[in-house]
Amino acid sequence: MTSEWRTRDGRIGVLTGAGISTDSGIPDFRGPRGVWTKDPIAELLSTYDNYLADPELRRRAWLARRDNPAWQARPNAAHIALAELAQAGRAVTIITQNIDRLHQRAGFPEDRVIEIHGNMFEVVCVECAYRTTMSATLERVAAGEADPPCPDCGGVLKSATVMFGQQMDRRTMMKAALTAQTSDIFLAIGSSLQVEPAASMCAVAVENGADLVIVNNEATPYDSMATEIVREPIGTAVPRLVGEILGD
Ligand SMILES: [Zn+2]
Repeated sequence: MTSEWRTRDGRIGVLTGAGISTDSGIPDFRGPRGVWTKDPIAELLSTYDNYLADPELRRRAWLARRDNPAWQARPNAAHIALAELAQAGRAVTIITQNIDRLHQRAGFPEDRVIEIHGNMFEVVCVECAYRTTMSATLERVAAGEADPPCPDCGGVLKSATVMFGQQMDRRTMMKAALTAQTSDIFLAIGSSLQVEPAASMCAVAVENGADLVIVNNEATPYDSMATEIVREPIGTAVPRLVGEILGD
């Protein structure tokens, strides 16, 4: 039977994608009702070279950041269940493709969330080490700076997210790979597992002896490696699985 993974001791790695946040009102970017599907300009705003080259795109990007529905989003039952797993004392680390910080806002320990695509709550300069909050920068936009430059060097500012065409942070990816390698149970939740290198974390985990459990409403390229595949909606599946792991 496949249910035995639930009682395994040891480390739990969790990979989360957009599907865990749709119940919080944050649209999936690539799905049929996704942001990029409905508005191709939105994808341009997230492409690094275009963003650097075109001040008009940057002005639109700041307005899109201001209007992002994620600011109003709240953690849902799945985020809360994963936080309870950590609070119950299990050694659990989350690798997330999401930039919405809903895991941390649900109470999951911040130092055990690895944000491989960065987050939307901070702003960085592309030229120097300047870093600040998104809220402070959006105040500059509201005060009339349509494309606010870096106050230290005059360079282009952007959200602290990984755009298309931009390298992922090497240290962050090493931490994610180490998490996959050392997991005994590896849960992949709400990710189509089609974007590398996040997707291959599943293979790394399995090759190092983990039980892979995939919670996603559609088939993924890693289904054949999985100990268990769950098609139930994430909002009920994750609380149920966490309860089973904790033996409730
Ligand atoms: Zn700068």
